[in-house]
Order: sequence, then C-alpha cells, then structure tokens
Amino acid sequence: MSTPKILILGGGYGGLMTAVRLQKQLNHNEAEVTLVNKHDYHYFTTWLHEPAAGTKDPEKCRVDIESILDTNKIKFVKGTVSEIKREQKTAVLDSGEQLAYDYLVIGLGSEPETFGIQGLKEHAYSIRSINSVREIREHIEYCFAKFKNERRPELLTFIVGGAGFTGIEFVGELSDRVPELCAEFDIEPSNVKIYNIEAAPTVLPGFDPDLVNYAMDVLGRKGVTFKISTPIKECTPEGVVLADGEEIKSSTVVWTGGVRGNSIIENAGFETMRGRVKVDPYLHAPGHDDVFIVGDGALIINEEINRPYPPTAQIAIQQGENLGDNLVALVRGGSELKPFVPSLKGTVASLGKNEAIGLVGDKKIYGSTAALMKKIIDNRSLFLLGGLPLVMKKVKL
Ligand code: FAD
Ligand code: NAD
Repeated sequence: MSTPKILILGGGYGGLMTAVRLQKQLNHNEAEVTLVNKHDYHYFTTWLHEPAAGTKDPEKCRVDIESILDTNKIKFVKGTVSEIKREQKTAVLDSGEQLAYDYLVIGLGSEPETFGIQGLKEHAYSIRSINSVREIREHIEYCFAKFKNERRPELLTFIVGGAGFTGIEFVGELSDRVPELCAEFDIEPSNVKIYNIEAAPTVLPGFDPDLVNYAMDVLGRKGVTFKISTPIKECTPEGVVLADGEEIKSSTVVWTGGVRGNSIIENAGFETMRGRVKVDPYLHAPGHDDVFIVGDGALIINEEINRPYPPTAQIAIQQGENLGDNLVALVRGGSELKPFVPSLKGTVASLGKNEAIGLVGDKKIYGSTAALMKKIIDNRSLFLLGGLPLVMKKVKL
C-alpha cells in the first residue's frame, strides 16, 4: 500500500493538536500529513475577547504555525478550504487546488449562530478571528474619536448580545478598557454605556448561581448594565430591537449569542445539528471510517445529563490528542482504537483584570484566585500545543 495521506483541515486547537501529536510519534515516511489553515498563524481563540476590547495586542494572541510544526514531517499549506468532496476524497481550496486524502480530519472551528435574527449578519460584529477582533477594536476607538465632535450618545453605547461566557468575558475587558479610552479622548466616563443583553432568565445560563451573582456584581460595579429575559429580535444599522419592543440605539453591536459548526461540514452533506456532527466514540463522522471531526464541529453527548458537551478548547485539545494517537495506530495497521472520553477539569471565566469566576472540580473560585487559575489554564494550553518554547514566547503573567 502506498504511504497513507492524512489531511487536516484547520489549524485551531483541535487540528493543530492532532498534527502535533502525529509529528511526535510518526517516523519519516510512515504517512504524508498535510495541515491546511486559512492563515499562516494559529490564533488563541480563547484569548480573543482581550484584543477585541483592546486590552491586549492581537500580535500576542497568535503564533506562526511553522514555528510549531516539524515541516519535515508535516506539510503546511496556507489556504482556505471551500469544499469537501466526500466521494472523491478530496478537499478543495478557494485557489482551486484539490488535496486528496486517505484520512480526513476536520477542525474548521465554528461560526456565529444568528438563529435567523434579522440584521445580525449585516450589522453586528463577532469575536471569531484575529482580523475580526482588530476590526472591533478599531471601531471602538473610532467611536470614541467621533464622539468628541458629534456628541451622539449611540457612539458610546456598546451592546453585547448574549451573556454566555464569551459575552461575559468581553464585557469584562471592555469595562477595563473604557477608562483608558476616556482618558485618551478626554471624555467623561458617564457618557459610556455597556449593555449585556441576554434572552435567558439569567446570565451564564446553567452555571452555578453563586458564581453568576458574583460575576454580575463585579461587572455591574465596572459599569455593565445587564438586561436579562430580553431576547434581541432585530439588529439594524441604528442598534437593536428587543423582543419587548424596546429599541436601543448603538453604533456597536457585538454578537456573542452562540456558535454553530463551520458551514463547510454541512455543505459537504454530513448530517448536522447546529452545524455539528454527532461523532462516534472514535470521532468518526457516522458511516465514514476515513473522516474524523475535532473541536467545535464535533458534537458529543454527556451521557450523565443526556445533553451535548459545550464546544470548548479544552475538549478540542483532548480530541486532537486522542485522534493523533488513533491515526498513528491506523497507519501502522492497528485496528484497536481508543475511544474519546473527555476529562473535564472545570470552567474558569475572566471578568477583566484580576477578576474571574470558576468551578474547578466542584470547588468554586472567585476574584484574584480564579484570575490566577485562568492564566495557568491559558499557559497550559500553550504548553500542550507548542511546549516550553511557545510558553516562553506567549506566556500570560
Ligand atoms: P478554532 O480553534 O476556532 O480553530 C479553527 C481554525 O480553522 C482556525 O485556525 C481558522 O482560521 C481555521 N479555518 C476556519 N475556516 C477555515 C477554512 N475555510 N479554511 C481553512 N482554515 C479555516 N474554550 C475553553 O475551553 N476555555 C476558554 O476559556 C474559552 N474561552 C473562549 C473565549 C472566547 C472569546 C471564545 C470566542 C471562545 C472561547 N472558548 C473557550 C471556546 C474555544 O475557543 C473553542 O471551543 C475552540 O477554539 C474550538 O477549537 P477548534 O479547533 O474547533 O476551532
Ligand atoms: P453560548 O451559547 O454559551 O452563549 C450564548 C448566550 O446568548 C446564551 O446565554 C443565550 O441564551 C444567549 N442568546 C441567544 N440568543 C439570544 C438573543 N436573541 N438575545 C439575547 N441573548 C441571546 O455561546 P458563547 O458564550 O459564545 O460560548 C461558545 C462556547 O465557547 C461555549 O461552549 C462556551 O462554554 C465556550 N466558552 C468558554 C469560555 C470559558 O470557559 N472561559 C469562554 C468563552 C466561551
């Protein structure tokens, strides 16, 4: 048999971890491994709320993929995947190039879920890539600059739609950034309004109520106004319309109302729920022994509560580790694959500088302890992906 071709689509947490695991174990010429990614860098999606608000330089939230890969073992292709042709066993890039595979790993991450809400796609920003967060940061600065001359209140009214973890982490950063911007542009802080609008009866639905109250208290003191049980019904060039009919004028709407799997998966004909494929225990797309899905495109069920696990980097990284090992076994002719079993360490969410909340095991943590834990978690992900050299380059102190 000729050397098997492993094609990995997407260099995020799941795809890159799969590649790293393969390069550690495969000998030369055991497999032809190719990683394709839209950019020549990997970005730390879990940090993106910071550059979006402007509290961190976007440059610090990314790393060149070739500095992590051993390019003697893994070929890197910078390209945007436009289509997967299952019958022909190829992926097509927008350049027209076609890449063939024996084993395909799909790690293309997620897209914003807009639930068909009118105007969101056209008028709202979302936190999803280095380029998208640069745009948000620059737009916020532009609004401050423009307010100086025009004094229109909507320029300094910021709406964040959805108070899940992304929304909460972003308003935490934004409320830290506001005093800096007010000082820079000589603007009285009382002109600035930050609304975090949530459809469910509570922020962070499903999370521990004590931690939710702590988060609301900290963020409230930093100037965030929460509107709960208030779905956004429409987004317009002027702001948002809520389900109760209220209109809030705003020049900046950031949509953090949820995610769905990358549409390339759905367009390839896989059966999906919110763009995610319910994978088998070995991360196969059902009925396809040659196609694996990692990260936000893979739906796995938490049997204890019979509900899907939320899509997280924690799970994406663990899936990459598991799949890397299984692919090594496959190319060596093994038939015994290890099932993927998530090992959840907990959830910690930042609320801005030196403030966070978290559940680690069943222990609740708050404030500076939780903020320190968040840095440890972020640095640990760096270590898993790129070892000590990546930690040294990008460490969060
Ligand atoms: P990603 O890491 O998003 O990577 C997808 C990759 O695919 C990217 O490199 C992208 O450029 C590439 N790509 C996309 N489309 C194409 C294409 N057409 N062609 C080529 N390449 C393409 N999870 C946690 O566990 N802990 C946290 O603290 C946490 N914090 C978060 C904070 C924020 C602000 C956000 C937005 C999410 C956070 N998450 C967190 C969730 C976590 O980031 C995702 O679950 C995780 O990134 C999913 O990993 P992935 O490999 O599926 O996709
Ligand atoms: P999410 O789905 O977790 O939260 C979206 C929120 O938006 C929900 O609370 C939902 O009720 C609300 N919403 C939906 N429609 C709405 C509407 N019309 N109007 C107002 N609110 C509306 O999405 P997310 O926060 O982007 O998180 C995505 C994934 O990333 C999750 O799995 C999350 O756990 C993970 N994440 C984890 C962390 C962390 O661990 N620190 C941080 C960020 C994201």
